[in-house]
Amino acid sequence: MPDPVLVIHGGSGPWTAVLTDPARKQAALAGLAAALAAGGARLADGADALDAVQAAIAVLEDDPQFNAGRGAALTEAGHPECDAALMDGRDLRAGAVAGLRRTRNPVTAARAVLDEGRHVLLAGPDAEAWLHAHGVVACGPDWLVTPAARAWLDGWRAGRESPLGTVGAVALDRHGALAAGTSTGGLTGKRPGRVGDSPLIGAGTWADGHAAVSCTGMGEAFIRSAFAVRAAGAVAAGGTPEAALDAGLDRVAGLGGTGGAILVAADGRWALRSRDPGMARGVWTVDGVRTWVRNPPAGP
Ligand code: ASP
Repeated sequence: MPDPVLVIHGGSGPWTAVLTDPARKQAALAGLAAALAAGGARLADGADALDAVQAAIAVLEDDPQFNAGRGAALTEAGHPECDAALMDGRDLRAGAVAGLRRTRNPVTAARAVLDEGRHVLLAGPDAEAWLHAHGVVACGPDWLVTPAARAWLDGWRAGRESPLGTVGAVALDRHGALAAGTSTGGLTGKRPGRVGDSPLIGAGTWADGHAAVSCTGMGEAFIRSAFAVRAAGAVAAGGTPEAALDAGLDRVAGLGGTGGAILVAADGRWALRSRDPGMARGVWTVDGVRTWVRNPPAGP
């Protein structure tokens, strides 16, 4: 059996403010390390990949530096609408949520949908009420909204570039199981009701017996190219993780999009790829933790 692996991302994008400010860069790296520690500890204890992925994403959602949960990007109307998904590669069970406004950890809501097993994707206020009645922790709408997210929206209204910052995780556990998860506030200034690739199984999130994939970037291009399921299929057909992600990012670029993705394969190989100047990302293995914000080849 291969050693367990956890790979995470905190979004692909310009990351200009972080890459030009050493203190902010250190804070982002520390946030990634905390998420890797939480998920890696689960894997080291023998927990399954799904639990490790959920634990890592919950830490990133609680960290306001990342565009998921607290700190989520705001719609053009100024509200958070959070999307998240989880998928278990053992049996293709999946759970996802879209447009949540009052849920502290959207990944926990995705887990509730997965565990119930009746549906795959829930959206809208009645779904959120059902989740809260079934143990998912609610929060006031203001808890999710940070000054930085308001500033991003002001910048978007002024025509400036918006940071991305979706979070995701993929893991292989010591039993050989794979899982993937993604959580996001979506794109700053999105139309209310817009749903991105993150909660769409096969687009922004996928796990099967061959590979687990989580994406970040311009969601519409990831949806139109069915990114995540095709990347896993490329690995199943014998491709390397890097080549599988690069081919997907080529298709995204062909549709006018950009972004990045992470993948772990059933044999323990993994890859992190981005077409942007920055991608917050990291990996936990039995040998330790590594984190990066600047995109290779410039290094960490
Ligand atoms: N992919 C996400 C979306 O389109 C955004 C991101 O990755 O930052 O909703």
